[in-house]
Amino acid sequence: MKASIITVGTEILIGSILNTNSKYISSKLTDAGVDVIRQSSVDDNMDDIVKEIETSVEKSDLIILTGGLGPTDDDITREAVAKYLNREIYLDENEKRKMEERFLKLKKTFTKNNLKQIMLIEGSEKINNNWGVALGEVVSLDNKKILLLPGPPSEMEPMFDSYLIENINSDEFIIIKSIDVIGIGESAIEDKIRKMKFDKSLSINTFAMSTHTEVKIIGKSSDKEKLEISIKDAMDKLYEEFRNHIFSESNEDVAEKIVDILKNNNLKLSFAESITGGMLASAITDISGASSVLETSIVTYSNDSKHKNLNVSEGTLKSHGAISEETVLEMARGLKEKTNCDIAISTSGEAGPNPSETEVGTVYTCIYFSDEDNDINHYFLSGNRNKIRKQTVYRVLSKLLYILRRKF
Ligand code: ATP
Ligand code: MG
Repeated sequence: MKASIITVGTEILIGSILNTNSKYISSKLTDAGVDVIRQSSVDDNMDDIVKEIETSVEKSDLIILTGGLGPTDDDITREAVAKYLNREIYLDENEKRKMEERFLKLKKTFTKNNLKQIMLIEGSEKINNNWGVALGEVVSLDNKKILLLPGPPSEMEPMFDSYLIENINSDEFIIIKSIDVIGIGESAIEDKIRKMKFDKSLSINTFAMSTHTEVKIIGKSSDKEKLEISIKDAMDKLYEEFRNHIFSESNEDVAEKIVDILKNNNLKLSFAESITGGMLASAITDISGASSVLETSIVTYSNDSKHKNLNVSEGTLKSHGAISEETVLEMARGLKEKTNCDIAISTSGEAGPNPSETEVGTVYTCIYFSDEDNDINHYFLSGNRNKIRKQTVYRVLSKLLYILRRKF
């Protein structure tokens, strides 16, 4: 089954609201095994809506419109669908009685405009709205359906859900899995994936995020058991190929996972942040329960502060520079000595735009348990100042999670 989504409303086109309806409907349909082939947004304009319906009906079996079912003059979606179908619209007398009662209770008088929301297209099937006033409806044509839903997500979402549950029971099973890969570019990942062999029932796509790449596996099959086996096989192959670069599965929150593991193992963390200037501490304190795992965080931005607060030797700073393996190691060691923590983490790097010591994007980090057990990383990150700093946070957190998972 192919579906198209038309979101109606000037507010979407002028950028005053975010079009969450398309995203909501698309992801629900995808989960239900329906292929969404088109999303479009049109102005509250009769000709534009009618033309868009024509195009969408031509290409798909299910056409969903949201928005423009309200009481005001600019809400004309129902009229446009009626025009396209060359059908009349009529007032639902049952709904009118209910509306009269409701208005009486509220001691309000209703206007002709209110009635607009409880009109229906001839021959359609009503979708009740228990969350607002405007009725939804489904028009069935030979083997196609046109679905009309109100714009406000608080009404649209539950109405769409109830439609889905009652009407779309695909024979196909869908399984969606994703893994987050960090430290390799999207095109390199794609290249490797293309060379690998996966079951034909699976589609594997990559999505570049600001800090990492999401690899998404979507599997569809009428044979659930077989599908589960091919998904597992695909996951195993991806884990094998990207083993040092996978930090999470299915969009889990990395910071939340870290706090979880630390809490369960009674471990405490301290940060000495230079390039990240407190962003690591912020990422951890975003998570509730952080107080039991975060011991201390200090921002040691200047060389002087690195020396005074963390005992980084002046000799190291002079001969290797602040942005060096030696400095992050001494920062972390000093931090561990001064604070009551199990893991000390330090960052130092060049965020730009004007380099002070070395090339912009050069970053060193250290995750320190002891002198014998520590992990120093050297990254070359690209992007502007903000992106380099954010990437550093992400790299540290993902590496930390990776290490914690192996140890605990
Ligand atoms: P109303 O009775 O509230 O006027 P309506 O069906 O006429 O509902 P619109 O007038 O198009 O819908 O939109 C009403 C409100 O619903 C918008 O101001 C916006 O807040 C929300 N909305 C509409 N379309 C979308 C969309 N595609 N994504 C997210 N929100 C939307
Ligand atoms: Mg409206």
